[in-house]
Amino acid sequence: MNAMCSEYPGYLKLHEDGELARRAARAVDSLTECAVCARACGADRLHEEHPNSYCRTGRYARVSSCFPHRGEEDCLRGWNGSGTIFFSQCNLRCVFCQNFDISWQGEGRPVEPDRLAGMMLHLQDCGCHNINFVTPSHVVPQILEALCPAVERGLRLPIVYNTGAYDSLETLQWLDSVVDIYMPDFKFWDPEVSKQLANAENYREVACRAVREMHRQVGDLVIDDDGLARRGLLVRHLVMPNRQAGTADVMRFLAEEISRDTYVNVMPQYHPAGHAEQYEMINRPVTLDECREAVATAMEAGLWRLDRR
Ligand code: SF4
Repeated sequence: MNAMCSEYPGYLKLHEDGELARRAARAVDSLTECAVCARACGADRLHEEHPNSYCRTGRYARVSSCFPHRGEEDCLRGWNGSGTIFFSQCNLRCVFCQNFDISWQGEGRPVEPDRLAGMMLHLQDCGCHNINFVTPSHVVPQILEALCPAVERGLRLPIVYNTGAYDSLETLQWLDSVVDIYMPDFKFWDPEVSKQLANAENYREVACRAVREMHRQVGDLVIDDDGLARRGLLVRHLVMPNRQAGTADVMRFLAEEISRDTYVNVMPQYHPAGHAEQYEMINRPVTLDECREAVATAMEAGLWRLDRR
């Protein structure tokens, strides 16, 4: 294992110093005029029962499901699964979302901090190799708040932050030394496309800044002798029909401005879901040729740590 990669997650030290609780309190206070993610709506999520927020989420995080996930990358799922906690709602809401019922329709229920902590401990008891927060960008304060009781009750697993990369810089800084593995999905390059498909014209700018900050905090992905990810950056990229994801540009950015050693999962599983049938350019699955081209562009850019599945 890399010498930079300690045996214990960084949040234990932060908790010992009282810094984890201080950050959680500041983050929860910020919900009164929310700028937790890049939307910066300014909604009062602390006091209003139905805040006027893009993410449709109030004081407490909503959780859709919590289970050992055996479908994640090998270095996350290991042999006992990745301990995923799927948050409901989303700060992006792509029109083609493959989890439409969770991100758009908000399937799930609100959980208070002790209950969220209990979910993490349950996943640890199941033998999971990490805690994998899925779609966490709009509930970072709630995650920090729940981590305090989770650590007191024995949580010791690495934390995975599994995000659409539409994250604010300040919020990512709250997560410095808390998150062990950042897993952003870099979705689009062209502002016109991100505007049309995710109502986020500045997605590229936000995602580039976010990925730079994630890499600054954790570096390239470190995988231990058992094949498990311990710390670092793992980028996902969903190949889309008709080059709508801007794969070649995303790969060049990663290779030239982040690191040629960036671990990348070029994902071929796109299929039309959600409202995708309303958008002709994405209303079909990707072809084998499009997937091959995406992998070739990654390699041409100089990336070599491509997920083999
Ligand atoms: S987290 Fe939600 S309320 Fe806060 S800025 Fe983002 S979308 Fe708006």
